[in-house]
Amino acid sequence: MPLPDSNITTDAPPLTVGIVGAGIIGLCTALEAQRKGYRVTLLDRSEPGLGASFGNAGYLATELMDPLSNLKTLRSALPMWLNPHGPLSLPMGHLHKILPWLVRFICAARPANAAKNRDGLEQLNTESIPAWKRCLSDIDARELLVKSGYLLVWETPSKLDDAKQHAIYMAQFGIKTELVQGERLAQLEPEMANNLSHALYFPEAYRVREPYQLCKMLFSAFMARDGSFIRQEVQAVRPQKKRVSVQTPEDMHQFDHAIICTGAWSKQLLKGVGLDVPLEAERGYHLTIDAGNIRLNQPIGSVERRFVMSPLDSGLRVVGMTELGGLDLKPVKRRFASLRHHSRKLMSRLNDSTLPVSEWMGHRPTLPDSLPVIDKHPHHPQLLFAFGNQHLGLTQAAISAELVVGLMIGSDTKINCEPYRVNRF
Ligand SMILES: Cc1cc2nc3c(=O)[nH]c(=O)nc-3n(C[C@H](O)[C@H](O)[C@H](O)COP(=O)(O)OP(=O)(O)OC[C@H]3O[C@@H](n4cnc5c(N)ncnc54)[C@H](O)[C@@H]3O)c2cc1C
Repeated sequence: MPLPDSNITTDAPPLTVGIVGAGIIGLCTALEAQRKGYRVTLLDRSEPGLGASFGNAGYLATELMDPLSNLKTLRSALPMWLNPHGPLSLPMGHLHKILPWLVRFICAARPANAAKNRDGLEQLNTESIPAWKRCLSDIDARELLVKSGYLLVWETPSKLDDAKQHAIYMAQFGIKTELVQGERLAQLEPEMANNLSHALYFPEAYRVREPYQLCKMLFSAFMARDGSFIRQEVQAVRPQKKRVSVQTPEDMHQFDHAIICTGAWSKQLLKGVGLDVPLEAERGYHLTIDAGNIRLNQPIGSVERRFVMSPLDSGLRVVGMTELGGLDLKPVKRRFASLRHHSRKLMSRLNDSTLPVSEWMGHRPTLPDSLPVIDKHPHHPQLLFAFGNQHLGLTQAAISAELVVGLMIGSDTKINCEPYRVNRF
């Protein structure tokens, strides 16, 4: 284990930090705080890694520079919503609650706002793979990160120009792509080439082997370094003069610092410390198919169907759907049917009802400008926040952890954290 590089110069006991939420963001943050010499306690109401971090596609989507809200998304929203297998849904039971968020989301699409938000995402995405390499090398688990490549696919031949334009756009960010068709496409992804017209291949793209396995590995490294874990619901976080208290049903825990990493559930805890953030739970769905010898070589994103398939150690994972349905509604069964429909269209051998499949729904933490919160409380600097990474929480976890811990110890952060302020709304 490397020597911590702060908090080490005296014989005083190490400073303590309580990290609320043991998803991928909280786990990376806990390890980063340990590296800086803190005594760290993680608190979660469940076992670590069972929130949104459990069931994602495991893809490090560093090329997703565009905020979710932009003019293109708004233009395509209605057709997406009307399509019975479309990726967008607004359950009626939640519609009245989501309206204020939707208004902010629409405002974020103004070109000047979208450009600013793109800059905020670009900073994080550019640093995300190096940060993951640092994090995993430090715990001797570098093999969990795989340079797999990624294939963005089109079925419609008339959309060849869209792919060419997208390649030019990606090049502006320094992202390498290759336009592939025919033989080359069949060589990259033999299982689905017959159903495709063309694709953009991202040779430098990474995925993880399995997102939940990654969470478990981070957690065991954390515990092996003298971390503590309290499995309890956090009811409130209260900054005091210099410390922070964290209230659970059984105890009041005191720390020098606390960091809230509770993903889509963060709004309530922030309300308790006088902050109102327009955070929504953007529900996404997955199927994990035990597909035997029906294999993919890399994650696949379908532009027209707007879903992703990813080869993971746990099976072939099919993910998608943006359902603005809040935290309380049950999963909607027909979303799983839509994922089956799309995956079978691209990989006809999946059209086999005997293949074992597991189904899951999770909550992406999404703010209207698509940027996370990585910040200190404006009046209580001992309380910090790292949440709201929308569709990119796995991608951005290691860099978000470095940034929030950097803010905690008061060091210069690698990138400018101004775009991620908690009171920017
Ligand atoms: C279908 C789907 C596919 C995705 N695919 C990708 C992908 O390929 N790549 C990518 O980068 N991102 C992807 N994402 C997004 C990514 O999974 C999330 O952004 C990320 O997991 C968020 O991590 P988190 O730690 O902030 O939240 P979570 O993993 O949800 O963790 C929050 C934790 O806080 C705990 N908690 C909440 N409130 C309390 C409380 N009061 N007291 C105690 N504990 C509490 C919860 O129990 C939970 O463990 C996907 C998401 C979905 C849904």
